[in-house]
Amino acid sequence: MAGSTRIAHWAANELFDGTSDTTAEVTNPATGAVTGEVALAGVRDARQVIAAAAEAFPAWRDSSLAKRSAVLFRFRELLNERKDELAALITAEHGKVLSDALGEISRGQEVVEFACGIPHLLKGGFSENASTGVDVSSLRQPLGVVGIISPFNFPAMVPMWFFPIAIAAGNTVVLKPSEKDPSASLWLARLWAEAGLPAGVFNVLQGDKVAVDELLANPAVKAVSFVGSTPIARYVYATATANGKRVQALGGAKNHAVVLPDADLDLAADAMVSAGFGSAGERCMAISAVVAVGAIADDLVARIADRARAVKTGDGTRDADMGPLVTRAHRDKVKGYVDQAELDGAKVVVDGRQVRPDGGENGFWLGPTLLDHVRPEFSCYTDEIFGPVLSVLRVDTYDEALALVNANPYGNGTAIFTNDGGAARKFQNEVEAGMVGINVPIPVPVAYYSFGGWKNSLFGDTHAHGTEGVHFFTRAKVVTTRWPDPSHGGVNLGFPRNV
Ligand code: NAD
Repeated sequence: MAGSTRIAHWAANELFDGTSDTTAEVTNPATGAVTGEVALAGVRDARQVIAAAAEAFPAWRDSSLAKRSAVLFRFRELLNERKDELAALITAEHGKVLSDALGEISRGQEVVEFACGIPHLLKGGFSENASTGVDVSSLRQPLGVVGIISPFNFPAMVPMWFFPIAIAAGNTVVLKPSEKDPSASLWLARLWAEAGLPAGVFNVLQGDKVAVDELLANPAVKAVSFVGSTPIARYVYATATANGKRVQALGGAKNHAVVLPDADLDLAADAMVSAGFGSAGERCMAISAVVAVGAIADDLVARIADRARAVKTGDGTRDADMGPLVTRAHRDKVKGYVDQAELDGAKVVVDGRQVRPDGGENGFWLGPTLLDHVRPEFSCYTDEIFGPVLSVLRVDTYDEALALVNANPYGNGTAIFTNDGGAARKFQNEVEAGMVGINVPIPVPVAYYSFGGWKNSLFGDTHAHGTEGVHFFTRAKVVTTRWPDPSHGGVNLGFPRNV
């Protein structure tokens, strides 16, 4: 195909074609053109990539903390210098505007910076004389090969939630990126090689369910970090834990913003538009449901509508605020939700189906869409749409708003807009979600805290990055030591007691 490049796997610091002849098309969402063919691994290919990671593990595990952190620092410097190249690749395959692509890289870079401090993060404990003449120490050791399975919407940041810490802690990695935008992963692999990471420590396995299933079953893979939709997260969690692996599986979301009557409505409206339509709503922390409390609803909707109409939809490489959706099929699915909402009785206040984008005529376009008078039973509310569609639900009281948020099966992020500190404090205490924003619409935690949702938004018990990430990628060992001395007391069949 003219202009179409083959996107292969990466194993032992080189491109690896594999033997499977199955491929998937990669498109530029702003033009609709096919730009690449990504290899879809067969089981043999997957085993070969996993084997490369397994072979590299013993030497990497035994390399010093000083050497590991030096590679991390070099990777950080190269990433920072060359992030424009990576942003361009992301925009070309995902569609998000360049500034947004740079934003995701900087949030991923934060985790690299956190992982540069691995010598400190892996410090253990030591108790001298826990019993007479006996010392006890604790240490954390790497697991082995870890699998990272990532979604299309953050081809750089989501893998970077995991691999910097996994690698710094002494594990070796097989990354299975989304087949929709696979090129960022190869760019990152080359950067690792340039930073001096030994061959086999970071590998990329391109593919679909076949590749994922091998990662979930292969005995060499000790842990799996997954991010994607809830049905697949649930499947990955169930399958990999049944195979004895450690798993964190982050799923989908339906994030609510509650706007109380005393809120600054301009601040709230700005926030709804930024968080609802940024990255065309294809963020797991996007706000998709606005809960307007009390008499402010008409005013709030009008302010959101004015701002939504001003959002410029277009090719992410041009002067646009919002890009296209990732694929034609996804755009059609999202548009279908808008059609259905209208049939259900929602008021389409801003209609993205009518948008005239600044981009190719075959691009996967849908403009910002604002739905008012949405009821909890409408499919535009019950389902995760993952597009530029903001639904407004109207309630009379704070308690009704809280009940609505807590009844939702997802619990990734949520936000409240208010000037009442007491109400905000009550909300942060009562709401059932893993990440809460107070007058902050997208409360993505900084790298030294951990990212993760509750309920159907996360399966497993460990969130991503921060100290929880360090714990996920290491296991604890406690060593009890006695050096022989003249006072040892001979044979004792009783259970060890501390004296
Ligand atoms: P997806 O579930 O379709 O795909 C995620 C990964 O799973 C991809 O690598 C894909 O190849 C693989 N996969 C797809 N189908 C599979 C199957 N049947 N068996 C095994 N593996 C399979 O998700 P997506 O469309 O790429 O990403 C969007 C979703 O990710 C949204 O639901 C979004 O909320 C979620 N997400 C969640 C978070 C979070 O932190 N909770 C972050 C980003 C995205």
